[in-house]
Amino acid sequence: MQNVIPADVTAAGAEFPTRARVVVIGGGIVGTSVAFHLTERGWNDVVLLERRRLTSGTTWHAAGLVGQLRATYNMSMLAKYAAELFSDLERRTGLGTGFRANGSILLATTPGRWEEVKRNASMARLCGFDVEVMSADRAGEMWPLLDTSEVIGAAYLPGDGTANPTDVTQALAKAARMGGAGVFEHTKVTGIHERDGRVSGVSTDRGDIACEYVVNCTGMWARELGAGNDVVIPLHAAEHFYLVTEPVPGLDPDLPTLRCPDDTAYIRVDTGKLMVGFFEPGAKPWATHGIPEDVEFLTLPEDWDHITPFLERAARRVPILGEVGYQLHFNGPESFTPDDRYVLGEAPGHRGYFVAAGFNSVGFAGGGGAGRAVADWLVDDRAPMDLWEVDIRRFMPFQRNRRYLYGRTTETLGLLYDMHWPFRQYETSRGVRRSPLHDRLVARNACFGEVGGWERANWYAPDGIEPRYAYSYGRQNWFPFSAEEHRAVREGVALFDQTSFGKILVQGRDAERALDRICTADIAVAPGRIVYTQWLNDRGGVEADVTVTRLAEDRYLVVTTGTQTVRDIDWLRRGIPREAHVTVTDVTSGEAVISIMGPRSRELLASMSDADLSNDAFPFGAAREVDLGLAYVRAARTTYVGELGWELYVPTEFATHVYDEIVAAGEAFGLRHAGYHALGSLRMEKAYRHWGHDMSDEDTVLEVGLGFTVAWDKPGGFVGREALLRQREAGIARRLAALTLADPEPLMYHNEPIWRDGELVGRITSAMFGHTIGRSIGLGYVRRADGPITADWLAAGAYEVEVATERFPASASFRAPYDPTNARIRA
Ligand SMILES: Cc1cc2nc3c(=O)[nH]c(=O)nc-3n(C[C@H](O)[C@H](O)[C@H](O)COP(=O)(O)OP(=O)(O)OC[C@H]3O[C@@H](n4cnc5c(N)ncnc54)[C@H](O)[C@@H]3O)c2cc1C
Repeated sequence: MQNVIPADVTAAGAEFPTRARVVVIGGGIVGTSVAFHLTERGWNDVVLLERRRLTSGTTWHAAGLVGQLRATYNMSMLAKYAAELFSDLERRTGLGTGFRANGSILLATTPGRWEEVKRNASMARLCGFDVEVMSADRAGEMWPLLDTSEVIGAAYLPGDGTANPTDVTQALAKAARMGGAGVFEHTKVTGIHERDGRVSGVSTDRGDIACEYVVNCTGMWARELGAGNDVVIPLHAAEHFYLVTEPVPGLDPDLPTLRCPDDTAYIRVDTGKLMVGFFEPGAKPWATHGIPEDVEFLTLPEDWDHITPFLERAARRVPILGEVGYQLHFNGPESFTPDDRYVLGEAPGHRGYFVAAGFNSVGFAGGGGAGRAVADWLVDDRAPMDLWEVDIRRFMPFQRNRRYLYGRTTETLGLLYDMHWPFRQYETSRGVRRSPLHDRLVARNACFGEVGGWERANWYAPDGIEPRYAYSYGRQNWFPFSAEEHRAVREGVALFDQTSFGKILVQGRDAERALDRICTADIAVAPGRIVYTQWLNDRGGVEADVTVTRLAEDRYLVVTTGTQTVRDIDWLRRGIPREAHVTVTDVTSGEAVISIMGPRSRELLASMSDADLSNDAFPFGAAREVDLGLAYVRAARTTYVGELGWELYVPTEFATHVYDEIVAAGEAFGLRHAGYHALGSLRMEKAYRHWGHDMSDEDTVLEVGLGFTVAWDKPGGFVGREALLRQREAGIARRLAALTLADPEPLMYHNEPIWRDGELVGRITSAMFGHTIGRSIGLGYVRRADGPITADWLAAGAYEVEVATERFPASASFRAPYDPTNARIRA
């Protein structure tokens, strides 16, 4: 049973405030969690406003599952906190939360899923979760209603549980009030005010409140509320279903929750009945033109036609589901984001405007941790851990497009339980951002992947083969084709379309001074030089990993990965003093990028240009305007693949001409097209790091192993220098290393545990099969407990990497597995 709303939790009669430091908008699990955790941090001047009643949005009808294991390490660490929070809340407030740690069983009924379950089990150990990988028979013993005939195996997580969403939310609200926060129901925020790029207050239907911060925790309303301030919060509501049976005699109340992802269903015990919920493919988006005004404890109409096929699948696994009657067919709305991940953090360009929304049906379990993270973010002015995968700055402005979201939402709901195949691509809302070369690459049989809306060629199918993924955890269908592309780069010459790079123009008479303070490297170089650099926070953590090309005395081009453009522009704008004469402009759309890479790249380009491309005239790290075909392009001698090569920045309208000329001339040199999977393999052999995987704002540039970019003594210093100096002095206890498996067969992807002399010392952050080395190579952090990490310490250990619960011997090195002296790049 749910708690009755205690009278002292709400403050309907309390005097309505006119000022507060923070206004939290939305009284679901997330808003109350944010408010409570702010008071925990000593910020008591907090007001929570709820348009109707606490929990009346999505929270009240959550199924109450509290699962800790998420798709990635960081998200699992965030979810881990829920169980701890729930027990603590009961102690503090005296209110029950209904939390029962009855555990959960994750079933596998296909070989692919079994591999996935075992990989998840390995990750669960990394997170410190108890986990038991078990046989079908053992799963059947624990869950007697289960038909195990098709079950291959399972993982049992005893720390998972269930709780009552309404009770938890009420307890959080009470705890927030006990900490000093005001909680006001029946108060709708009608507008958020900003002055000079900072939040200054909110308007409500009960009056205005001046404030320094708002936290938009309005669930499926968040996109519309955000739109009022041009804050991009891409989410869309969808119908979400569960059924509750008639009472089932003799049901064990302590049965763990059963997750049957292959059947798109979960099953839990609910007071003597079974609840079966679905994460079905082909979901039903809801309220695409806006959430109706009167929504409060809303139940949407039943839809047996939609749900019956999935119920039948579940009943094959748990036959009693096909035999009992159903008491409740519940359909309620929940919000989904285009990549199935939360939206957290401060909106770019809107100081003081925080968001915690878009919980993709795991917000009850995730709300505790997310609320704490956002509260910490606000108080400390930085994320408490690497939260990039849920950071609001990952979104591109176009992603708030309603039709885009509608289409994607049909897919994302089901993805929670669908196979999380490596390299899996979205099928819906595709083809939004295309390079000018797109059609030409289609003609070349490219298979595209999507990143930030960009269609990018991941691999090319040979003639007669359909460019379509056949997914697995092993070698996928494109493996041999991508290997050929890789070899072309190492031995001949290949073309990559890298138009999706983010390109940011920084110009003005103070550009050098302002950028130099942000960059670790010295960017006071002559025009025509390219500088590889990081941007650090004041703890030395890496906020960005970019190249900076000086185009002129007062003009720089920053090149970053496509997904980071919004974040990097935000970081720049925050870091440039207000009075400085500098402008920052996103010029991504202005130029295509055609990369010509490989030992024969010089010969090929020289055959089409009057420019002197010799080493003396055009050394590594130089950028020049050169003629090519009938056009001019900016050629940048740099690489992410570890070979001689040039990235050609081509004004967009010249791109197809330049491409056609290169392809025509390239025939004589055996030019091949190569995609992003080959790029991944090539970069891994060179141990080139990738921001977002191998480094984040919580890894210092010394830990990442990029200390060589740091100009320690440049005049004026740089942001993060003092922290780095302290760390350099003290020595580092963890560092990124390249791990190469001895056995050519197993494939690492990410989050695999790293063992040193039988002790867990870290995890893989990204990995790929290196076709020249002939092994799977991963980058990963290794930690030393008893002193600073040195190359000698690294060399002295015996390493293993755990792949799907099995450990495989590996070598570890701080040096790149391929061409560690960079001889080939400078050839
Ligand atoms: C059927 C179903 C089953 C689910 N089962 C689970 C589960 O088992 N485990 C799990 O982890 N998650 C589950 N979820 C997901 C979970 O319920 C949600 O992720 C979570 O409740 C979202 O919480 P929230 O606080 O973000 O949103 P909400 O609970 O919707 O809260 C947002 C609040 O903001 C208020 N608001 C909106 N606009 C304004 C405004 N302008 N001014 C003031 N207030 C405003 C709304 O009234 C609302 O109360 C389930 C969801 C559904 C639909």
